[in-house]
Amino acid sequence: MEVTRFAPSPTGHLHLGGARTALFSYLFAKANKGKFLLRFEDTDRERSKKEFIDSIIDSLKWMKITPDEEPIYQSKKISNHKEIALKLYDQGFAYACDCSEEQLSEMRKDQISKKQKPMYNGLNRDKNIKFSEGMVLRFKFPLHNSSAFDDLILGKINVENKEFDDFIILRSDGTPTYNFSAAIDDIDMKITTVIRGDDHITNTLKQINVFKVLDKKIPNYAHLPMVLGESGKRLSKRDGAEDILEYRHKGYLNDALINYLVRLGWSYGEEEIFSLEKLEGIFDLSHVNSSPSKYSQDLLNWYNNKYLNFLTSDELIFKLREDFKVDFGELERGDLAISLLAKGANTLKEISEESKYFFQDPLMNLESAGIGKDKKEIFIDFKNQLSKIDFQQEEIETVIGSFLKLHNLKFPELGRPLRMILTGKQNAPSISELLFILGKDISLKRIEYSLND
Ligand code: GLU
Repeated sequence: MEVTRFAPSPTGHLHLGGARTALFSYLFAKANKGKFLLRFEDTDRERSKKEFIDSIIDSLKWMKITPDEEPIYQSKKISNHKEIALKLYDQGFAYACDCSEEQLSEMRKDQISKKQKPMYNGLNRDKNIKFSEGMVLRFKFPLHNSSAFDDLILGKINVENKEFDDFIILRSDGTPTYNFSAAIDDIDMKITTVIRGDDHITNTLKQINVFKVLDKKIPNYAHLPMVLGESGKRLSKRDGAEDILEYRHKGYLNDALINYLVRLGWSYGEEEIFSLEKLEGIFDLSHVNSSPSKYSQDLLNWYNNKYLNFLTSDELIFKLREDFKVDFGELERGDLAISLLAKGANTLKEISEESKYFFQDPLMNLESAGIGKDKKEIFIDFKNQLSKIDFQQEEIETVIGSFLKLHNLKFPELGRPLRMILTGKQNAPSISELLFILGKDISLKRIEYSLND
């Protein structure tokens, strides 16, 4: 059975790249009828925060990514990992090192001056130093040949071992390092496929050597190419949100974001719309693009607009009430108002902001609506015409049509100022729909107000 995991360090919120990694890992497990696990790599005591653990959990919940077991906290396993590091030392796969800061910095300087790659040069590798607390343990990285694996997305990765140094597995304060703990935890959690960002490729090459000395089966690896910002550079705050929950606050729908994220690097023929349920059946790693993908705010907006319009007006009314405290239920034709606004909106927040004129008279007079005094008579006449009809959409359209003809006006000459009078905005939905949704009383009241200057 496939077992995957998402292993965030709770040193920040879940950002867009992390959310995509979690989603791909989750979907791969589900599509293979396997398990998806969550592990917090919270060993950095200073930078790990409970606040971030909570926010990552909330973010995953919002994205409907549910781990199949309770989360694992790496910090609870520090002593176990230390024990294993000491065992490797006893077996000769690791060695104690007491190099001082000064020695290490001399080493660095010397290498840089010789135009060599700065790395630990193995000074204490063969000295058989007896370990005592306060020393570090270094992994005896193989000196010859190369380390390699077949990446499920990127293909064969092969790097000569001389490119690596004897990395630290146990720090001088007795805590294990990321590369060591991650490998041990992946073994303990019986992870079969590790899916993570391609910034971890070097780590993978280190970690597989830990698997080897422990004589454990090496999992499959899939490294996801980066998500770049719109400029083609690293994704920054300017592109996407630093915290995936910000999208929620801005009025993006989780289903839209899920759909958008999965398409950031994965494709399925020409299809563009995917529900999570569908993805849980069809997602695969062979269709993940091996080159980086680019964040696009426009595409995310396009998806969100689509998903807003997939919702029924009752569902939209509910969401707007819950998340933005706007109650379309109070309006007589609230269901129509909301679906009219959803057509042109990218987010729930936009709907809520656009909706103000349904709840509040915009109080526009002729001047602020851009109507010359000479046109006043025309608007008085229009108001009279409207007051005579039964306020159904077809009748409204007929009245507008004949009114334009009678006064020899083009539609915008009536439409533009009328839209201002009714909504206080230049860009608002179609006039006849607007009149119908506002209803006779409110529409006439607003027109009348504009005439009483
Ligand atoms: N904790 C690492 C990070 O947040 C991920 C490690 C992994 O997936 O192995 O980048």
